[in-house]
Amino acid sequence: MNKRIEKSIQFLWILTLNMVVVFILVGCGANSSERASANEVKNGQSNTEGIVRSASTVVKDSKTNRVITSQDSFQIGTYIKISIYSDKEVPAIQFDRIFEEIDQFEKLISKNITTSEVSMINENAGKAPVKVSSDIFELIQMGIQYGEISSGGFDISIGPLVDLWGIGSEGAHVPTESEIQEALSKIDYRNILLNETDQTVFLKEEGMSLDLGAIAKGYIADQVKTLIQEEGHQSAIINLGGNVLTVGHKPNSEAWSIGVRDPKGENKDIVGILKLQDNSIVSSGTYERFFVEDGKRYHHILNPKTGYPEENHLQSVSIISEKSVVGDALSTTVFVMGLQAGYAYVESLDQVDALFIMEDGSIYGTSGTKSVFSLTNNNYNLKEFVFSTK
Ligand code: AMP
Ligand code: MG
Repeated sequence: MNKRIEKSIQFLWILTLNMVVVFILVGCGANSSERASANEVKNGQSNTEGIVRSASTVVKDSKTNRVITSQDSFQIGTYIKISIYSDKEVPAIQFDRIFEEIDQFEKLISKNITTSEVSMINENAGKAPVKVSSDIFELIQMGIQYGEISSGGFDISIGPLVDLWGIGSEGAHVPTESEIQEALSKIDYRNILLNETDQTVFLKEEGMSLDLGAIAKGYIADQVKTLIQEEGHQSAIINLGGNVLTVGHKPNSEAWSIGVRDPKGENKDIVGILKLQDNSIVSSGTYERFFVEDGKRYHHILNPKTGYPEENHLQSVSIISEKSVVGDALSTTVFVMGLQAGYAYVESLDQVDALFIMEDGSIYGTSGTKSVFSLTNNNYNLKEFVFSTK
């Protein structure tokens, strides 16, 4: 099937089922006067040709006395929803700019687009440095930093292992031990060489490849927030496939209520609610992408030391931070670190908090979550974290 049609069908299906990874409760109490349904995706309706997206949904929100204009798209392999609170309907051209910006980033970052900067870097592994844009340079620089922080638990040169497992694609399968060892020999963030003066990136060994999947969505969400603010808006919600970034607070000065996904439930199920403003919440979990082989589940967060999906009794880690790129990088990093090391690390950071959801239903929240998180799901227990003496 044509890839774009396939994407469109997937998109409509996602919309119909309200499949958002994090369920946002901001629309509750809205006095619905929807003019255009998101299901009315028609070719040529927008100026952003080639981007799978909806028309505006316009809702008068009785709680805030504002108009919420929302648009959805399917980009960077994920469902995106942007909702802006304003005095009147937000013109479509402003959404055009947002979706175009996301499209530009996808064209730079995706390793599945042969002309992207990341593909160029990968193609030239072991051969030559590649000059890149300042955004990609900055993103890779940050990726390396998190590699250092986690001593390689987080590693953006994980491309060979991600490709080998193919988790999330039709060809997902458990590789052989020798294939895993071969892929592992190519992974080492210390072999990503950056030249700040020339703005070049060089992968030292042939066969190395970058995968920015663990950090890119957060980076893009931050850029979208800046754009929305530049367009003059003070209140908005950006949801990039579950990476949620709030702009300001709700117009009635209330914090946003963001549901935290129940890792064992359906997409709409939550474990509890976070009250946030001007913050990002990003989750990494075993439920996001996985496959089952011989009755065993394999998820997409890989341990670059063992070559296998990380198994440390965590189901998900949610990070609350100001910048979404920090939350995105940390959610994956801290997942691989595990509860003990991850909790201690997050507590050592300023303005960053985390919720750890364990396989047995225990939830541990770092100190800053106490005043903003409330548990709503009886299948889970909020527990006090105790540092291990081992
Ligand atoms: P996230 O959903 O943000 O946790 O990112 C997961 C994605 O990041 C995976 O689908 C891979 O593309 C990539 N990835 C998996 N494991 C790692 C890791 N240990 N370090 C860096 N990136 C990873
Ligand atoms: Mg991440």
